[in-house]
Amino acid sequence: MTALTAFTASTSVPDPRRSSADSVRRFCRGELPLDARLQPWMKALLANESEQLHDAVQRFGSPVNVIATGPFRQNAECLQSIARRHQVDLKVYFARKANKCLSFVDAGRAVDVGMDVASEAECRQTLDRGLPGRDIVCTAAIKTESLIELCVRHGVKLVIDNLQELELVTSIAVRVGRAARLAIRLSGFEHQGKRLESRFGFDLSQVNDLLDRLADAPPASYQLIGLHFHLDGYDREQRVSAICQSLTLVDRLRRIGHPVAALDIGGGFPICYLNNQQQWSSFWREHDRALLQQRSPVTWQNHGLGRMVIDGKLHGRRNCYPYWQSPTRDDWLDGILSAAGPDGGSVADSIRLRNLQLQCEPGRSLLDGCGITVARVEFCKQHVGGDWLIGVAMNRTQCRTSSDDFLVDPLLVKANDADSANTTNQTSGQGPTAKSGFLVGAYCTESEFLQLRRLKFPYGIERGDLIVLPNTAGYFMHFLESRSHQYPLAKNLVLETGETMHLRLDDIDQDSSS
Ligand SMILES: *Cc1c(COP(=O)(O)O)cnc(C)c1O
Repeated sequence: MTALTAFTASTSVPDPRRSSADSVRRFCRGELPLDARLQPWMKALLANESEQLHDAVQRFGSPVNVIATGPFRQNAECLQSIARRHQVDLKVYFARKANKCLSFVDAGRAVDVGMDVASEAECRQTLDRGLPGRDIVCTAAIKTESLIELCVRHGVKLVIDNLQELELVTSIAVRVGRAARLAIRLSGFEHQGKRLESRFGFDLSQVNDLLDRLADAPPASYQLIGLHFHLDGYDREQRVSAICQSLTLVDRLRRIGHPVAALDIGGGFPICYLNNQQQWSSFWREHDRALLQQRSPVTWQNHGLGRMVIDGKLHGRRNCYPYWQSPTRDDWLDGILSAAGPDGGSVADSIRLRNLQLQCEPGRSLLDGCGITVARVEFCKQHVGGDWLIGVAMNRTQCRTSSDDFLVDPLLVKANDADSANTTNQTSGQGPTAKSGFLVGAYCTESEFLQLRRLKFPYGIERGDLIVLPNTAGYFMHFLESRSHQYPLAKNLVLETGETMHLRLDDIDQDSSS
């Protein structure tokens, strides 16, 4: 009690309701800050409507995911406008696996964005939502008979990965009495003297086999209408190589009579989570110094994030998404379309020349700015080493991808606003208040850290405060979420902005299945 009084008396706490939105950021920053890019809706919600966030967590449990579809539509529009500028016919499909909320299906439908589905549930829901089959592409890595039949019946384009799959698809198409609409997934493109390895699709060297099989299949069982690839990573030049080599194959397929009408270049459009390149480079510079014992650790127990020291030298690559990068999304696509194509002009020229529709399947980049994850602080304890551990009511699968860490500073929403913080102290225990520490989650493993970086809380952090992880709609919310320990999955709320802002459950949580 005394500690808190002394602390609040000597520090003026910004009132989030009255001060500018950026003051929300001031409650929590990385020891080495990595300031998030924040959408206006996020700032407004945190600065003016934080009561709603507290209510939502109270009502639906911690954490809750909050999504907004406005940025989704804008992101799609950015891609479409770049394509228009290049006079390229572009169809965007949203890779639904990046976020399961049905609001994005509805938002996509409203702006002529199709859906890329990776499972039967994704496909059924999308059809149930009223999207016609021809606006859906199925890229599921494993396609069961029932998924294939669903796709064939509804005219959903199937992206074929292997010969057995092709055979199954054509036999089902014969049974159903409808031609399957097919695209062929390609891989093994040559790029700068090396092959781009992939476990997916047909290597370019296997295409002859594939053509033999197609020639043997009943002609009424399929239509080969497209080629497809999806490359790992975010390299523009690799896309250019893959497009050029795919165009050669388009020509060849058309010569032998296949009605190839589209080239689908998959996803992997890069996004940038951070405001500031400088913060990004200084974070990694200081982290390397910490690993070399030249400064205090910036991560829990000096976790390397993919980097390590062997014999006094740094090795290893950052095992993290490039949270700061440039160019992104439409600028990145612009670079691809402007690059030299195989016919003497640009890539765009070569696509236009062939009267080909360009298709793409971005997941993450359409979701840029579309979500936050909100969780309640349950305890703050001082670890024997002196560091504070902040217990948060969520687990790390609720904000997780294959990256070692989510390298974006969370935001902190205080339980008590400035006035009541001066006079009440129901939530904090005795003793000092945490001014820095690490976020730990609900799973019972030593490695259960929600973030590995040390965070600072200049105005303290207490039980009942909310931690807000910004820009989590793309993959972080759903891709790896698990129900280990039988914790329920997080609920998903959609922000509706009219005259007021209000939150409602996304229909994905109304279905009995979830
Ligand atoms: C995952 C995936 C995508 C989406 O990738 P992003 O990096 O989210 O843009 C698109 N197509 C296929 C085939 C995928 O597997």
